[in-house]
Amino acid sequence: MAVDAASRGYRVALVAAEDFAKGTSSRSPKLVHGGVRYLRQGNITLVLEALRERGRLAKNAPHLVRDMAFVIPTYNWWEGPFYGIGMKVYDQLAGYLELDPSGWLSREETMKRIPSVEPEGLVDGVIYHDGQFDDARLAIHLAMTAAEQGAVVTNYCRCIALIKREGRVTGARLRDAEAGEEFELRTKSVVNATGVFVDELRQIGDEDANPVVAVSQGIHIVLPQKFLPGNTAIMIPKTSDGRVLLAVPWQNRVIVGTTDTPRKTAVLEPRALAEERDFVMEHAQRYLTLDPRMQMS
Ligand SMILES: Cc1cc2nc3c(=O)[nH]c(=O)nc-3n(C[C@H](O)[C@H](O)[C@H](O)COP(=O)(O)OP(=O)(O)OC[C@H]3O[C@@H](n4cnc5c(N)ncnc54)[C@H](O)[C@@H]3O)c2cc1C
Repeated sequence: MAVDAASRGYRVALVAAEDFAKGTSSRSPKLVHGGVRYLRQGNITLVLEALRERGRLAKNAPHLVRDMAFVIPTYNWWEGPFYGIGMKVYDQLAGYLELDPSGWLSREETMKRIPSVEPEGLVDGVIYHDGQFDDARLAIHLAMTAAEQGAVVTNYCRCIALIKREGRVTGARLRDAEAGEEFELRTKSVVNATGVFVDELRQIGDEDANPVVAVSQGIHIVLPQKFLPGNTAIMIPKTSDGRVLLAVPWQNRVIVGTTDTPRKTAVLEPRALAEERDFVMEHAQRYLTLDPRMQMS
């Protein structure tokens, strides 16, 4: 947003309370996916929006976004055709922004792609493509581009209150963490893009402001590469609680997750709960030949 506004000639200040890209974004599965999990929920509008974002990002930042092949290993005869058709719909929805098309894999091809997949009961597989990106580099490049376009960009500068006049936000009170100084910035508009902390900021000085975010946390576990050698990710379309589980290669490791646990308040350094770790490891071991629980013991 800062890049967009600065490049249109607006005077822009971007302030971040901590390191750039420090928040929830740094804990994401590093995927620019087209919302495949929302396809199963039938939320086509959201899938279309995510596919468009994926396509735009791949075009605008080809040095940071790469194609990632996902395999859905199937253990029932009906899953191959079922997920195969679903992924064809996904391809179609992407339209001209489509990556490589999805397809069916035999049992042998599935095992070749994912040598560590659980072979017992494996029927076949479905392959499809999504994007993977380097979130931290993208955030830094965007900050640099915004600065190049004339924006003032600073981190370790927290917005501690929104300044209001006759009910309208007219500025922000900021605290420079390094200098320990506080100062006010008068502006025509303020974009509160603080993610899960959005209500915390809105409610400073306005305790009646209705919350717009329901706080929850999700975790990944990070495993050595031997759990998923190669460059292909695994997608498990339905866990016991009806969620999607992903195992994604990332920088010589494997990221596996995720969970969705409601929390009362947002914290900057959330801690994984034991039951979340158990849930992810229990599901991962069902689909992998190596058991992550042995790694932890
Ligand atoms: C495990 C996991 C899996 C996920 N999977 C997916 C997925 O598959 N698909 C998907 O679409 N999304 C997914 N998400 C969600 C996605 O990562 C988040 O929606 C997204 O990163 C939020 O980005 P953001 O910029 O809004 O917030 P953040 O990345 O949290 O950035 C907000 C920033 O605001 C700063 N800040 C806070 N308060 C202040 C203040 N007062 N003044 C100045 N700065 C402040 C924070 O330091 C932070 O850097 C996942 C998240 C997790 C944790």
